[in-house]
Amino acid sequence: MTDRRPFVGGNWKMNTNRTTGSDLARGVTDGLIGVDGVETAVFPPFPYLLTVRAILRDRGSSVRLGAQDNAFQNDGAFTGEVSLAMLKDCGTQVVLCGHSERRHVLGEKDETVNRKLRAVLEAGLEGVLCVGETLDERTAGHQDIVTARQVRTGLADIPASVADRLIIAYEPVWAIGTGKTATPQDAQEAHSQIRQLLARLFGPDSANRVRIIYGGSLKPDIAAAIFAQPDVDGGLVGGASLNAADFVAICKAAAASARGK
Ligand code: PEP
Repeated sequence: MTDRRPFVGGNWKMNTNRTTGSDLARGVTDGLIGVDGVETAVFPPFPYLLTVRAILRDRGSSVRLGAQDNAFQNDGAFTGEVSLAMLKDCGTQVVLCGHSERRHVLGEKDETVNRKLRAVLEAGLEGVLCVGETLDERTAGHQDIVTARQVRTGLADIPASVADRLIIAYEPVWAIGTGKTATPQDAQEAHSQIRQLLARLFGPDSANRVRIIYGGSLKPDIAAAIFAQPDVDGGLVGGASLNAADFVAICKAAAASARGK
């Protein structure tokens, strides 16, 4: 029996506009009315945070407002960056750090991800540390080493006391946006390795409080099998989160999985 409440986040990436994002936010909030036992969040693009926040607030929704990235600096000459103070001002409650597209498309390094995550947690928000191996790394049999390095470096100088506000998203890069989902067994194996590492870093009690969620081509038909695994505490959803009905179905699968654990 686990006390961990599942978490499902919808990462909208650089998709939607003010109209479609508003429709999506309304569809998600309406679809999740009466769904208990799962913490949910949407991660719209920065320009739509306030629009989505207004919709969540007007509907009294428990869906949390997330941001896809943050600067670790407080303020100053950092053209194009967005600080945590600004994100908090817009009502952001949870932030993604080190998403694979930021690592592999935009060149973000483990050390930068760590500085961003530390800043998120020091600001009192929830932080989602995204980790996962590329196809080449998996083919070479290095998935555990790569994921462990990303977790260890990502969590440097972060105390166990933040365990309740820390989420780790295991997102194998080869599964993101490709339609290839990890098998439930592969996901469980990776999550269990991560939890064992967390136990060494934070101690077993805190490690058991950290949610470890799966991301990579999650769809409603596969979600229940993945969420049934003992160390899978929900999911981070990209493509399917752009369809309110699919995202809601995945959130419901997470809520149902928690009742069986
Ligand atoms: C993601 O963006 O974190 C993700 C998992 O994307 P997708 O569900 O599209 O693979």
